[in-house]
Amino acid sequence: MPDALSAEHCDDLPAPPLSGSRIGEADPRGAAMPAADTESAVSEPPSLSLPHRGGGESPPQPSRSIRHAFVEAVAALRKAGAETPELDARLLVCHAAGLTHEAFVARAGEGLPPEAAARLRASLARRAGGEPVSRITGTREFYGRSFAVDERVLDPRPDTEMLIEAALDLIDRGAGRKAPLRIVDLGTGSGCILITLLAELPNARGLGTDISADALRAAEANAARLGVAERASFAHSDWLEAVSGQFDLIVCNPPYIASGEIDGLAPEVARHDPRLALDGGEDGLDAYRQIARDAAKVLAPGGRILLEIGATQAEAVTGLLGESGLHAGKIGVRRDLAGRPRVLVAGA
Ligand code: GLN
Repeated sequence: MPDALSAEHCDDLPAPPLSGSRIGEADPRGAAMPAADTESAVSEPPSLSLPHRGGGESPPQPSRSIRHAFVEAVAALRKAGAETPELDARLLVCHAAGLTHEAFVARAGEGLPPEAAARLRASLARRAGGEPVSRITGTREFYGRSFAVDERVLDPRPDTEMLIEAALDLIDRGAGRKAPLRIVDLGTGSGCILITLLAELPNARGLGTDISADALRAAEANAARLGVAERASFAHSDWLEAVSGQFDLIVCNPPYIASGEIDGLAPEVARHDPRLALDGGEDGLDAYRQIARDAAKVLAPGGRILLEIGATQAEAVTGLLGESGLHAGKIGVRRDLAGRPRVLVAGA
């Protein structure tokens, strides 16, 4: 589908306002509750005008308001050293009370029911113990959609949304978006890259691969959750080993942390993301070596490969892509707001 991909968008694409990085990431943001779980979970606050029956019984205590619970949660998380206490507190209060963000704002003055307060206490204790918000809520928002996440998969990162932007920018906004593009997402994890692209490109079809059978099951469930299962397939593969056929887009956010650096990462990452999803071997480049070696054989003429990279890896990975023959056009670099290279784009 070469016509759908325009080469001139390949160079130094403008960076959207995204931040955060896998290395040292301490911003384990979660996601909104699905809309279906909302509305009914917060009951009306107990009425203060209930008749008081006397006889030593204390009058019913009004529960703390949602706002009050939020303020206390922020203080507790700040004390525990969370980097984004307001965001974490909002996500955990919404989760505990079954509220959307909109309902959280609109109903902040209402009482927090005791069961929700108990759930919130338990969540705050887990968060204070270093567990990422998304592991507690079981969901993570990525490119505006709510993915189910758990210990089987890498917690999707805002950085990776830049790869989505870069891929979509390659595709002509008119006909290209409707083209029957073929996409392969290597190391699909939660499926966030493949599923997002399929959701944005209504006629695209895609294959997600992973070496972890557990991750493949998680990705499959997310494809169904987000309505793209009919256009997605999943296969067990060590990078491109079991992949055949031709693809217009190869996308991948491989493990790129040097093995020796993993233990020094934020505990949210080092203890809660699967090691397989982080560990890029001795110099962090193992996955890129294998992918660069094999990509040309599955890239359709005019197709593109997009790789997320660690902030210091642009030169090394550009070199690997160059050696592999994936350099017919210039190899494009997409940088984040801080100027760090985050995504490389190359073509056959
Ligand atoms: N593709 C998934 C993501 O970007 C998983 C990546 C990985 O496990 N390294 O979140």
